[in-house]
Amino acid sequence: METAVIDLAYLASAVLFIFGLKRMQSPVTARSGNALASGGMFVAVVATLFLYDILSWPMMIAGVVLGGGIGVWLARTVEMTSMPELVAVFNGFGGLASALVAGAELGQYVEGSAIDQDPFTGVIALTVGLSILIGTVTFSGSIVANGKLSGWLSGNPTSFPGMRVVTVVLLGGAIAAIAFLILQATGAAAGSLFPSPADPVVYAAAGLAAAALLLGVFLVIPIGGADMPVVVALLNSYSGLAASATGFVLDNTALIVSGTLVGAAGLILTVIMCDAMNRSLANVMLGGFGGDGATGGPDIPEGKTVNETSPDDTAILLSYAERVIIVPGYGLAVAQAQHELREVADLLEEQGIEVKFAIHPVAGRMPGHMNVLLAEANVSYDKLYEMDEVNSEFPSTDVALVVGANDVVNPAAREDEGSPIYGMPILNVDEAQTTIVIKRSLSPGYSGVPNNLFYRDGTKMLFSDAKEAIAGIADEIKTLQEA
Ligand code: NDP
Repeated sequence: METAVIDLAYLASAVLFIFGLKRMQSPVTARSGNALASGGMFVAVVATLFLYDILSWPMMIAGVVLGGGIGVWLARTVEMTSMPELVAVFNGFGGLASALVAGAELGQYVEGSAIDQDPFTGVIALTVGLSILIGTVTFSGSIVANGKLSGWLSGNPTSFPGMRVVTVVLLGGAIAAIAFLILQATGAAAGSLFPSPADPVVYAAAGLAAAALLLGVFLVIPIGGADMPVVVALLNSYSGLAASATGFVLDNTALIVSGTLVGAAGLILTVIMCDAMNRSLANVMLGGFGGDGATGGPDIPEGKTVNETSPDDTAILLSYAERVIIVPGYGLAVAQAQHELREVADLLEEQGIEVKFAIHPVAGRMPGHMNVLLAEANVSYDKLYEMDEVNSEFPSTDVALVVGANDVVNPAAREDEGSPIYGMPILNVDEAQTTIVIKRSLSPGYSGVPNNLFYRDGTKMLFSDAKEAIAGIADEIKTLQEA
């Protein structure tokens, strides 16, 4: 196919990526944004198949069918609660693919069969080096992140004496290897396509990959499980940068544009998540915050017991309320209680009660987790309120119904300067007249920090699986309405 047509196709795919991302700003348009971006990727893949005569058509079609098939299967079977683990794997393989393509391109230079037979310049050496470094770090770091999230690795921060020094030495070695590649490229005799002998270049690239593999592990393993979603967002950004570097190696515009978009979007997401937890990125990367076990924590009032309640009593309380705010959290996703919750909201609204949903930016295990869950149950978007919009309304709210949320409503973040989550903005449910918390036990949330909200006078605990509890509440409200 004409190069101009392929360039046009790449331009079209870049435009589709950008508009796709733009539409993801709001849940209302996100679905179509996703479709647009997928369309852009399809156009880019098809155009690339025409660009290089690398493999036979049957091989390429087999690759598309196999890769597409695995993608469809994963998208259909993965649980919403396992999405961060899946994204970690996607990032990891994205990074690995970039590193492998850059390595293969280097191999073709060694053999003298590189695309277009361009000479191996300093710029190519730099981008090959960066792609191998960032891509491989992304791969091994993402596999560790996946392990911590899915539990096949301990979620506790793990380190050994001297680990920081080893990490710095590995990083120094990797930078030295890239510098060596550049020196070899720029020192090549004029007119030659590749430095001769080739062996030192190949060894430097292999050494770089090995250092990067260890570097990825050592960068992520000391970070606690509670911070893994932030790490996954950061690795997502890295995978974009690796793809972009590979785009420069291959002189492929679509890869440069899409890689840069992923790199920037991943970084913005990382910053948003850090802001929502009131933590700096450096604190996340170095802090060793959170793990499998509870991290100390604030005062659980001595000798205090909790007030327990039942679905029936909760239904009565809700039925006599004028204003109710529902606060969903990770437990709602685990219990898959979103449909029952919407039914309760509908029943209350039929009685003229004002019902709002308050969404904390890091409720659940990934940004937008609660929005997606409630959208699945057809809760209308105009009922969802962001933390800053709704926080001032709790004092004039009769019932705050907390469903499987814990850290995002923990008053220690506001009141206890010694708490690991101090400073994290929270939903002030404790300011409502009555706060009902639905969860199965008194165990802490993801951060491992105990929650003294449960022991406060205005709080009632409904110990149950969220789905059972909310179905029970809905039944009782219906009975009350019929009576
Ligand atoms: P938490 O993890 O703090 O708490 C969830 C609660 O749900 C648990 O305490 C658990 O209690 C309860 N639960 C679990 N299963 C069920 C069930 N079947 N029925 C009822 N309750 C259940 O969740 P939050 O949403 O409040 O907070 C999110 C946490 O994740 C924060 O610490 C945040 O920083 C972190 N995080 C989130 C990110 C994001 O992007 N969303 C990114 C990075 C971190 P019990 O076992 O007693 O039932």
